[in-house]
Amino acid sequence: MPTKDIVKRHIHQATYYARHKEEIQARRGEYFRKYAQTEVGRIKKLANFYRMIEKYPEKYKARYALRNAVRLGKIEKGVCEVCSSAHTESYHDDYSKPLEVRWLCPLHHRNLKKKEGL
Ligand SMILES: [Zn+2]
Repeated sequence: MPTKDIVKRHIHQATYYARHKEEIQARRGEYFRKYAQTEVGRIKKLANFYRMIEKYPEKYKARYALRNAVRLGKIEKGVCEVCSSAHTESYHDDYSKPLEVRWLCPLHHRNLKKKEGL
């Protein structure tokens, strides 16, 4: 019966992915890095950036203001509030307060976004 085959194949694919997750993600990352350097990739990246600005202007303004404040030395980048890592990203709880951010390492930033369903 074909349905059984589909289920079997799905289980096989899921198992394969689970076993080779890091390898697959690394290959995918390498592919996108190369693609982003092509002319089409650069244009699409820029188009996505402008689309993001149009869709979330308050997010862009907050990030822009914060980046300038860090560049001008008005704000210092902090350490991760969870693990104290020095490699941090900013996280805005409220975009209307662009200079009030939480500093998180990429891992804890991602975990927080997953928790909040962003
Ligand atoms: Zn951390």
